[in-house]
Amino acid sequence: MRKDDSGSYPATDAVRTGHTRTPEGEHSEALFLTSSFVFSSAEEAARRFSGDLPGNVYSRFTNPTVRAFQERLAALEGGEACIATASGMSAILSMCLALLRQGEHIVCARGVFGATTMLMKNYLSKLGIETTFVPLSDLAAWRGAIRPTTRLLFVETPSNPLMEVADIAALAEVAHARGALLAVDNAFCTPALQRPLALGADLVVHSATKYLDGQGRCVGGAVVGDAELVGKELFGFMRTAGPSMSPFNAWVFSRGLETLEIRMRAHSEQARALAEWLQQQQAVRSVFYPGLTQHPGHLLAAQQQSGFGGVVSFEVFGGREAAWQVIDRTRMISITANLGDVKTTITHPGTTTHAKLSDAERAEAGITPGLVRVAVGLEALSDIRKDLQRGLDQLARAAAC
Ligand SMILES: *Cc1c(COP(=O)(O)O)cnc(C)c1O
Repeated sequence: MRKDDSGSYPATDAVRTGHTRTPEGEHSEALFLTSSFVFSSAEEAARRFSGDLPGNVYSRFTNPTVRAFQERLAALEGGEACIATASGMSAILSMCLALLRQGEHIVCARGVFGATTMLMKNYLSKLGIETTFVPLSDLAAWRGAIRPTTRLLFVETPSNPLMEVADIAALAEVAHARGALLAVDNAFCTPALQRPLALGADLVVHSATKYLDGQGRCVGGAVVGDAELVGKELFGFMRTAGPSMSPFNAWVFSRGLETLEIRMRAHSEQARALAEWLQQQQAVRSVFYPGLTQHPGHLLAAQQQSGFGGVVSFEVFGGREAAWQVIDRTRMISITANLGDVKTTITHPGTTTHAKLSDAERAEAGITPGLVRVAVGLEALSDIRKDLQRGLDQLARAAAC
């Protein structure tokens, strides 16, 4: 199912789309590190500026290297248009500012990326755009939160860090029945494992910083959707407001897209094996991974995703102290909140990514003090296990005496 004749992953687009060879005949894509473009005459300049004549003017709005990344990601997501942005957060901000106006309303899943919550609560609210947060898998709550002014439903699935799964097709129906749009943050699955537009979503947002890069090098983001919403409205916002992606970063991300599918499959296989192993550890109270049959989102994930992803969370007995001990006993795994890297990373959500929540909000979101999140990389699984085993065995021994 690597080749796309039947709606499966467009493997060829991942490698080939977006590349226009220059007269130099380069095989790997050229990197256009240029802020502006020159014209052959004053008249041509005037026509390019007016939009009469297609072509590049200035890299805030178009750049061939950025366009190559946009075309490639649009093809992978099955969208008509893509706008690349300076970060995942600027993708979300740009989408909201381009498509919503004062007095309009957002319904957002509780437990989306922390900065997304802050953006809606603290900043969009200042512009008169209000957000209601609802539990991700409670369709009745989504329906109940919709108002006549609701313009956007926003969800991230699977969610961070508990890997809860939202029903994208059902949410699209809920949104469309009330004339609203559905946007899905697809950072955890990427188009290699989940294609929200095919499930009915209107917009996909990405933090390219994560798996699209895949090797932890650059910060970037993107919005994918149709020619009207993204190709016109979002492009218009982007060329004016300017949270553009750097050509260098676009070049790195395009390289990342070439290997996205094989990396995502490898991440998924490693994560599933690690989740199964974690379940057998005495010190572990519970494991959160949608690939496990007892995970509440398992069946839905098996339907709407072609893999379960690379992130596994687990709760140890003994609360924060025990969780920190497991983290601190690692020697290879990187202690960092980033994810989507070939290097395995480990983090304590309760005191890092979710530290700004109140105790009550954390408890409601299921972020217990003993929770540890691992974004499983591509090192030998035996070495990842060994690195975690040191702390887990110590906890088990301490519990035994
Ligand atoms: C990291 C992340 C973001 C924000 O992306 P940046 O590139 O860090 O701005 C948004 N959503 C999800 C799910 C993320 O993991």
